[in-house]
Amino acid sequence: GDEFVVLMDHLSNAEGEAQAQAEALARQLLLTAAKPCALPGQMHHGSASIGICLFRRGNASIHELLKRADTAMYQAKNAGRNNYRLFDPALQAALENRAALEAALRDAILAGQLALHFQAQVNQAGQVLGAEVLLRWQHPLHGNVTPAQFIPIAETSGLILPIGEWVLQQACAQLSAWAEHPRTQHLELAVNVSARQFRHPDFVRQVCDALARSGASPTHLVLELTESLVLDDVADTVAKMQALRHHGVRFALDDFGTGYSSLAQLKRLPLHQLKIDRSFVQDIDSEPGDAAIVQTIIGMARNLGLSVIAEGVETPAQRDALQRLDCSIFQGFLFDRPQPIAAFEACLAQIPAPVPLSTT
Ligand code: C2E
Ligand code: MG
Ligand code: MG
Repeated sequence: GDEFVVLMDHLSNAEGEAQAQAEALARQLLLTAAKPCALPGQMHHGSASIGICLFRRGNASIHELLKRADTAMYQAKNAGRNNYRLFDPALQAALENRAALEAALRDAILAGQLALHFQAQVNQAGQVLGAEVLLRWQHPLHGNVTPAQFIPIAETSGLILPIGEWVLQQACAQLSAWAEHPRTQHLELAVNVSARQFRHPDFVRQVCDALARSGASPTHLVLELTESLVLDDVADTVAKMQALRHHGVRFALDDFGTGYSSLAQLKRLPLHQLKIDRSFVQDIDSEPGDAAIVQTIIGMARNLGLSVIAEGVETPAQRDALQRLDCSIFQGFLFDRPQPIAAFEACLAQIPAPVPLSTT
């Protein structure tokens, strides 16, 4: 194809010098490739991306050396045209780790390694209104892999599609099981939706299928979207949200305050709730700036007719500060950690259920 290997010998024995020699040749090659070339009828300009890896006799197989040079070349490509990069072992390790995780993630559903944890959302009286569903991956070798590690991999590999569908189905099955009991039938579940999942043309049908198959009430399901997701393609977002809203499904805007939504954009979205990001809650009792931001978000939500929940509430002081600003719903370690369904239900049994008709 259009890939070539340049093998340099007689390089210096000192690594730094050898590197400088290899880089000098790379620069020369780039300049040569970039020289205009007269083809019949037009001038042609070429470019190249070069990956460099240094080696000593016998310190790696040919296959391994070519792979390293290839990794470095892709780094050069990513940095823009006409570039060279030296092989970086740390980057290679990160890439390999990622590839291994992706391969493992492919089997995770069938192997039964994925599980849902539930974290309570409580009102000012401490009553549990529902829970956020948080995905957990327990891998036999890698141990507990955090969502921060595997959700991005699931996104880029497309695995988020089957995984997200599985999460929706599990959450809906849980809602329909709760509907059988007077003590739990009021509970709602909030499910995180990633961009790739939401943008899929079948997303609306996927949600409707999960609801229909389980018999869960759509009015008990909340989907959490992020600001960057909704703003990426507002027309598509509004169309999908409206279609689901029509069935009774509601939407919360997750990590609110960290993105760039404007009031004008927000009011176009059929939202139900804003979730104040943990970063503003963290220092709310000590940082007047954060308190002012939270107060602004709550005021804005009220003007738009939206409910507000604060996430990442860890201390009574944070809860009190939020309560003074009239935040009505909380989620965080102060109330409980995300936990498996059995533990979540055991906690529920100790808390009074909310009175169905509140005065607010
Ligand atoms: P998120 O949706 O903002 O979820 C809240 C995160 O904050 C969770 O992290 C939760 O464990 C953590 N958290 C809750 N209370 C506290 C607290 O008081 N203090 C602190 N420091 N942290 C708290 P987790 O479970 O690691 O999830 C991280 C992110 O991964 C989530 O952020 C969400 O964006 C994503 N995620 C989790 N499950 C799913 C899923 O099923 N689908 C998709 N697409 N994304 C998911
Ligand atoms: Mg969330
Ligand atoms: Mg969040």
